[in-house]
Amino acid sequence: MTKPAPLLIRNVRPMAGSSANIFVRDGVIADSASSGGEVPGDITVIDGQNAILLPGFVDAHTHIDKTFWGFPWQRHTAGPLITDKIDNERRVLRTLNYPTFEQASNQVRQSIRMGTTHIRSHVDVETETKLAGIEAILEVRDAFADSVTIEIVAFPQRGLLTLPGTLELMETAIAAGADLVGGIDPSSLERDPAGHLDAVFGIAERRDVGIDIHLHEPGVLGAFSIELIAERTKVLGMQGRVNISHAFCLGMLDDAYLGTLTEKLLEARISIMSHAPGFIEFPPLRRLHDAGVLICSGSDGIRDSWGPYGNADMLEKAMMLGYRSNFRRDEDLELTIEIVTKGGAAVMAQDSYGLEPGCNADLVLVPGETLAEAVVSRRPRSLVIKGGNIVARDDKCLV
Ligand SMILES: [Zn+2]
Repeated sequence: MTKPAPLLIRNVRPMAGSSANIFVRDGVIADSASSGGEVPGDITVIDGQNAILLPGFVDAHTHIDKTFWGFPWQRHTAGPLITDKIDNERRVLRTLNYPTFEQASNQVRQSIRMGTTHIRSHVDVETETKLAGIEAILEVRDAFADSVTIEIVAFPQRGLLTLPGTLELMETAIAAGADLVGGIDPSSLERDPAGHLDAVFGIAERRDVGIDIHLHEPGVLGAFSIELIAERTKVLGMQGRVNISHAFCLGMLDDAYLGTLTEKLLEARISIMSHAPGFIEFPPLRRLHDAGVLICSGSDGIRDSWGPYGNADMLEKAMMLGYRSNFRRDEDLELTIEIVTKGGAAVMAQDSYGLEPGCNADLVLVPGETLAEAVVSRRPRSLVIKGGNIVARDDKCLV
């Protein structure tokens, strides 16, 4: 990794608090003190112009292998069901035949421009393209290693057991360098909930990696899957290493059952990812957070065959979480900032994340008055720093 030059960022407001100077040495936050100290000669000085300083945004669920970002606009052609979208995606990606490295690089640069310093991407593993996606994204991870942290989830988009050969490919994907095992709708897609989850947890146990499962299943069906996931997490001692993405069902249950499931999530220390879907109920963020459930968010698909929306801006995602949750009070909008920063970092087990001295200098400067106002206004990012390197400035990605 390139050794970054020391930095002094003057006149910034950590978490929208009082003005401070931030010193960065060897890629780490060295010290923070109130405005006005002596400036050592060898330091690059940046005027923060009173902007809000946040730890870098965490996009904890996206699909950088699928995006059309940076390519010509494509008309949306998928039908309404998940199986329609899976079939449509195969057709569309085959026709377009974009190089995965280029697709992912385009999205990663856009993420960096928007202040994201950490990305967890699901990457398709299936019997037609086999490990081509994983191999391309491993190259992207290397190419951007100084500019963003990328975690890879091997993702059986088309099914794990229903598509023979996928299970073996998933295991190979982890051996090749993917960080986590993915899963998808154990009942509605795979038609074999125990079999699917046993296979997913089996790989995770053998390879000693975490799990991130796409769970779109509604109501009681989804709740049943959560129960099965929680049971396996506890039995295998995987507490704190399992995330459930979407979990729409948590927004569809009666109060008593939601309470029971919340207890199960807490016991198994399972985190929840919500991307604030526009088409369906979704988890009650404030209630789950206050109960102690760890919550993160992500872009999910950005301008791909699944849908035309998305721009990799996690500040916009915070606004959407707030908008869909009917958050109006500042303290609720502040929760959305927590979800797209600390929440995602905790899910990705980033121990040196934050604004304290000793933390990695993964930072974003957002012009704004308060955290709530910053979420609502979503101004262009004036500075993005990753490991002490300046990776974006004045709304432009520099890498
Ligand atoms: Zn997804």
